[in-house]
Amino acid sequence: MTTDHGQLTTDNGPQTTDQSMEIPKQYDPKQAEQNHYERWEKQGYFAPEINRDENAPVYSIVIPPPNVTGSLHMGHALQHTMMDVLTRYKRMSGYRTLWLPGMDHAGISTQLMVTRELKKEGTSRHDVGRERFVERVWKWKKESGGQITKQMRREGVSVDWSREKFTMDEDLSRAVREVFVRLYEEGMIYRGNRIVNWCPNDQTVLSDLEVEKVPQAGKLYYLQYPAKNGERSVTVATTRPETMLGDTAVAINPNDERYRDLVGETLLLPLTGREIPVVADEFVDPEFGTGAVKVTPAHDPNDYEMGVRHNLEQIVVIDGHAKMTEAAGAEFAGLDRYKARAKVVEKFEELGLLEKVVDYEFSISKCERCKAVIEPLISTQWFLRMDELRDEALKLLAREKKPQFVPEVPYEKVYSSWLENLRDWTISRQLWWGHQIPAWYTKDGEIIVARSEEEACAKAGSEELTQDPDVLDTWFSSQLWPFSAMGWPEKTKDLDTFYPTSVLMTGRDIIFLWVSRMVMMGLKFMGREPFADVFVTGTILDAQGQRMSKTKMNGIDPLEVFDKYGVDATRLKLASVGSTDIRWNDKQVESYRNFANKIWNAARFALLNSEGATIDPETLSAAGPGLALHDRWILSRLNKTTRDVREALGGYQFHEAVQTLYHFFWDDFCDWYIELTKADVTAGEATPQRTAARTRLLTVLEQALRLLHPFMPYITEELWQRLPGAPFNFGQLLHPAYRGAEPTIMLAAYPEVKAALIDDDAEWEMQALIDLITRVRNIRSEMNIKPSEPVPVLIGSPDEKLRAVFSANKNQISRLVRASEVSVKEELEAPQASARAVLVGGAEVAVPLAGLIDFAQERNRLSKEKEKLRVESSKLEAQLANPQFAERAPAEKVNEIRARIADISQRTAQLDQTIENLQ
Ligand SMILES: [Zn+2]
Repeated sequence: MTTDHGQLTTDNGPQTTDQSMEIPKQYDPKQAEQNHYERWEKQGYFAPEINRDENAPVYSIVIPPPNVTGSLHMGHALQHTMMDVLTRYKRMSGYRTLWLPGMDHAGISTQLMVTRELKKEGTSRHDVGRERFVERVWKWKKESGGQITKQMRREGVSVDWSREKFTMDEDLSRAVREVFVRLYEEGMIYRGNRIVNWCPNDQTVLSDLEVEKVPQAGKLYYLQYPAKNGERSVTVATTRPETMLGDTAVAINPNDERYRDLVGETLLLPLTGREIPVVADEFVDPEFGTGAVKVTPAHDPNDYEMGVRHNLEQIVVIDGHAKMTEAAGAEFAGLDRYKARAKVVEKFEELGLLEKVVDYEFSISKCERCKAVIEPLISTQWFLRMDELRDEALKLLAREKKPQFVPEVPYEKVYSSWLENLRDWTISRQLWWGHQIPAWYTKDGEIIVARSEEEACAKAGSEELTQDPDVLDTWFSSQLWPFSAMGWPEKTKDLDTFYPTSVLMTGRDIIFLWVSRMVMMGLKFMGREPFADVFVTGTILDAQGQRMSKTKMNGIDPLEVFDKYGVDATRLKLASVGSTDIRWNDKQVESYRNFANKIWNAARFALLNSEGATIDPETLSAAGPGLALHDRWILSRLNKTTRDVREALGGYQFHEAVQTLYHFFWDDFCDWYIELTKADVTAGEATPQRTAARTRLLTVLEQALRLLHPFMPYITEELWQRLPGAPFNFGQLLHPAYRGAEPTIMLAAYPEVKAALIDDDAEWEMQALIDLITRVRNIRSEMNIKPSEPVPVLIGSPDEKLRAVFSANKNQISRLVRASEVSVKEELEAPQASARAVLVGGAEVAVPLAGLIDFAQERNRLSKEKEKLRVESSKLEAQLANPQFAERAPAEKVNEIRARIADISQRTAQLDQTIENLQ
């Protein structure tokens, strides 16, 4: 960036007559990317305040806050592109738009990052202590955190950076404490003992969603426990023999005949000498193992429940580091859990109490992050009761179908069945980085929950309080994001204006962790859902169809793709993903880079021929009778495209929107309209007709750039600023809500549909012309006719309307196919030695070949082609006839071969006809 206007100052307005000096031959995406973002941001275009219409409709999105430790990956780039497309589209349509950015403090990831740094320095978090550790994290955040916000600027995202938030900001932390206190006061947050998922490596509790179940080939150990009276013994089966040291009962199903007489008996637990009862419990599955199960209330969630039912003692024999405790007995204390397992088995064997060991496949719980095997432990944690919150969310869905999931199938069901099966949520985490739980303990162990330490002291009537050392699960603060980021609990203007937001854009993996919780909290604290729609994006897989992941090292860095193909081309590819999963393929981005070059070249042509012309939307507002067919046609195409793109975006059909724009710009505008208007635009003499043609071409281009802008912000701005009259005469092109702002295509009005200009007659006529021209061009290339050689074009059409179209456009036809003459008759009159084609509407076209080509040579060439096709066809037939192939080949492959054979037979018939005509 040089000055605000940078490259613009040289071509400011009509007094510069020739734009050709200013526009480079080649499109340079990097240059365009550097030219605009900083200026957009500085000018305040991203902020809702740029909109001066007090009655403007509102559109708002909060970004799913990326982790402060994160750097941009394809998943972000995908979501950000779609959010930006919607935001830019709505902004150009006059909405007061807010897209609010921010970052998440990402409790455990960030803590690990800094812990690792300390380790490198030869110290640890326990050495430096909590206070200094947290200071260190803040320092890290300031210096190295938030890489992603710089990378996001490169993406071109129009987020309002002036409103950027961080989940650990003081105001957001205040919101967290407020929510905690209110939920506690209503009895929805409580402290209690539970068996929790404990990661012995990360030293913290994990929610069920942070645990992954992995199939594991293990062993099932059959252990005998003798009865106290010495008459018999009971055999129990377990995958974890070491936990037997903490057993406090054996349980059987009350309906199990085999053991009925044992209920109430006392067993002698081997290795410990402890006396334990046999209890009857419906929970026991008589089919598992021997039908008798050991009960270890302190180390298994189901046993814990059973222990509560039968009032059993909880003996903790494994500690938080997965080592055996003193309670496991002197022989075992201090042993790692797996060493203890081996030792228990060995002892049972020595005692003759190991009945058997069998192979057994089961699923083991691992920490999603570090893959350590989870240890279920009893611990005191904070919980959030979910039943009431959940019921409200389900009611909202049933009553008002909110939020509206797109695609509705399967995500609405995914969401509702998750809610239906929801259990209380363990919200405390044994970390230092995060929102410390606002609960204090008096010397007598009384719990005081308060918004601040002062408030706690006042409530307790004492200064001698200790704050709970735990912090809240990171999702506790991110579930408040849609309103905490807008200033809640203050009654702010932003909340008033922008809550609820319009849409949440998310991946399917966090519908539980995040989406559902935001809905519940929004309803609870704002009385309204946090967003109207939830759009669930597809997933970008690698070329082999695998999920991209850091550990697999198969991720594709969006920044590298930007460097290679440009941001706009990448965005177009990303937007077209929509809600389906795709395998990444650079080729597709490459084709969009070609599209960007096509746009550049088309604009360059218009600019090189712009002398005397201006941008004048009035010229596109009416299709008078004096207008040529191609002009009426392009207006119709433009308005249909506008209609279809608006409809597609309204329904989150990103893929359709991209396809519509691509087809319009490449096929309609570049391949046909520019060709058809070329003669008028490049005329040597400065006539009013030439000026009108130039103005119309430029103005259609300008509309097309606006349509493309939300998808391809950089190239469209770069070109828009180069249009004649830019930027100082462009105030009139801005949406009325932005009048007075420094002109930018960002604030230009998104094209509106003028239904009256959709002209089906013109489209029909033009289609006939396109069909004719395409056929004649095909003939030229098939018959090897030199491009410089003019050819006669003979048309026969029984349809009078078609004849009128061809007759009226003889000049265009001549120019576009290089015809020496164009004759239009009711019946085709052509010499036998002609190449022919059938056109739509029953018309026929013929190109007499005498004098154009050497018949003998051509017959020879065509016969060779025929022979090649015959060989190919017989090979394919043989393949189909092979029974092995027919059985194994997928149906598509077989269909593909059949289609090819049909093609060949059709082509062969054509060749026969042509060869005969060349006699
Ligand atoms: Zn872990």
